[in-house]
Amino acid sequence: MPETRESMAYDVVIVGGGPAGLAAAIRLKQMSSDISVCLLEKGSEIGAHILSGAVLDPKALNELIPDWKAKGAPVETRVTQDRFWFFTQSSAIALPHVLFPPLMSNRGNYIVSLSNLCKWLGQQAEALGVEIYPGFPAHDLIVEDGVVKGVITGDLGVAKDGHHKDSYTPGMELRGKYTLFAEGARGALSKQLGAKFGLQEGREPQKFGIGLKELWELPAAQHQKGLVLHGMGWPLSNDTGGGLFMYHWGDNFCSIGFVVHLNYKNPWLDPFGEFQRAKTHPAIAKMLSGGKRIGYGARAITEGGTQSVPKLSFPGGALIGCAAGFVNLPRIKGSHNAMKTGMLAAEAAAAAVQAGRAGDALEDYDRAYVQSWVAKELYLVRNAKPLWSRLGSLLALPLIGLDMWTNQLFGISLFGTLGHGEPDFATLKPAAGSVKIAYPKPDGHLTFDRASSLFLSGTNHEEDQPVHLKLRDPGIPISVNLPEYAEPAQRYCPAGVYEVIEESTGPRFQINAQNCVHCKTCDIKDPAQNITWVTPEGGGGPNYTNM
Ligand SMILES: Cc1cc2nc3c(=O)[nH]c(=O)nc-3n(C[C@H](O)[C@H](O)[C@H](O)COP(=O)(O)OP(=O)(O)OC[C@H]3O[C@@H](n4cnc5c(N)ncnc54)[C@H](O)[C@@H]3O)c2cc1C
Ligand code: SF4
Repeated sequence: MPETRESMAYDVVIVGGGPAGLAAAIRLKQMSSDISVCLLEKGSEIGAHILSGAVLDPKALNELIPDWKAKGAPVETRVTQDRFWFFTQSSAIALPHVLFPPLMSNRGNYIVSLSNLCKWLGQQAEALGVEIYPGFPAHDLIVEDGVVKGVITGDLGVAKDGHHKDSYTPGMELRGKYTLFAEGARGALSKQLGAKFGLQEGREPQKFGIGLKELWELPAAQHQKGLVLHGMGWPLSNDTGGGLFMYHWGDNFCSIGFVVHLNYKNPWLDPFGEFQRAKTHPAIAKMLSGGKRIGYGARAITEGGTQSVPKLSFPGGALIGCAAGFVNLPRIKGSHNAMKTGMLAAEAAAAAVQAGRAGDALEDYDRAYVQSWVAKELYLVRNAKPLWSRLGSLLALPLIGLDMWTNQLFGISLFGTLGHGEPDFATLKPAAGSVKIAYPKPDGHLTFDRASSLFLSGTNHEEDQPVHLKLRDPGIPISVNLPEYAEPAQRYCPAGVYEVIEESTGPRFQINAQNCVHCKTCDIKDPAQNITWVTPEGGGGPNYTNM
């Protein structure tokens, strides 16, 4: 008998409960309470998979929920100190504020847990009548006659070998007049949509970084509530982009993280190891001493900026937030842009539904984006990433500062608009000619290994399910990636999912899929583009708190 799936129909289906998806859901209901809206989230609850810095520019939140303070939003720690350091191995050089134009200032911003903010936004959405389904990943697209008609959630109860267990429940169809994809950086379905509708055509490739983060509790005497610190330089080599962030907030919380641009070249580089090394810098180690690490996680971040923004709409839906990539790289901020683009798409979808339309492309959203403050903000910093990639950190830093100043003051750039060049998967050099990097052993106080870190992420997956990291060709890791690049997946994965195990018969590639924190780095950086991340069974993955 053919399998039957349950099917439910809505005006608008939203995939992903991050800032973009939740802002879109709220805006739709604000436009009209009659519009039916359903939102799917793969995490066990809203916020469980949200990992960010995060310094929040409250611009979009002010527009969405002007009385957010009275409504008790978890947005409480105002930025009081804003520092930028350049690290050499032994010193930290404070860079003067004059290097950075006003667009870089954190005045008026807040330090938050984006995960907590999303939980609160989820409550606001539900109160307005949005149906929220946590633990339900959107696994497949429904495309009929070239129109996206909704999504199918993942099946439950499928064993590792593919057979149906007693608990088997087929995924559900959620049909929408419009479907908004808010999956964040490197969304699995957003990637398929990009290929299907040629959304990246004529645009620069999207660029990414991997962001690793720890949450610490500091002794009260050391906590500087409201402190925002950004740093670059050591331990990264000059030709590797990235840097450190540290934010003091709440009750003695310190969010510390490290971003490595995924166009790095040396296959021996280990972003997790770089983060651990960065904490041993005397200036940072001093700030963390006596503290206790209580959280860990990792997530890809988009870095392509305005040049890489794809066509946003297609028949039956649109990409919103970091699924399209709206992060302002020099500010390391994307959540306000994610929320605003969600709101713009919601406004276009609401108008279309109210006009009796369905399944067409929401071109009004593309147009609204071009006119929005999001597009203007990204335009001002458009050359930061290309300059950094081309010139290396030392030379790029002053030029990025100069470029942002001329853009902000006179609306011009000496460089025009630079391109990004190669996609991130194509930048690795052969292992044989690259310098091996020795990472010190963790001490268990300041620096840690992957296993104990992973424990703090609360990551959990049903073990008896098909591996959700799909290899197009299972032979490539050992036959190509190992000899050429010393199989970099062993190092770029922040959760120890990939291992090369030496056996009597030769090396074997092992995938510990249950450890995956859903950062998507493997899908981005694998040099053979052989790994595809698909959604695992619902509710699996990290369980972030206060991240
Ligand atoms: C380390 C780091 C530091 C950052 N620091 C800052 C900062 O200080 N300030 C700032 O403004 N921004 C910061 N950002 C960027 C910011 O976090 C993002 O711009 C923002 O989270 C994007 O929001 P989003 O809703 O588009 O995507 P996300 O926040 O990634 O949310 C996507 C949601 O969709 C869910 N999802 C994905 N696929 C599916 C699916 N198929 N089915 C169901 N659910 C799905 C995910 O589980 C997740 O909950 C940082 C990012 C990182 C990684
Ligand atoms: S397997 Fe891929 S998505 Fe999962 S944690 Fe590792 S690099 Fe990230």
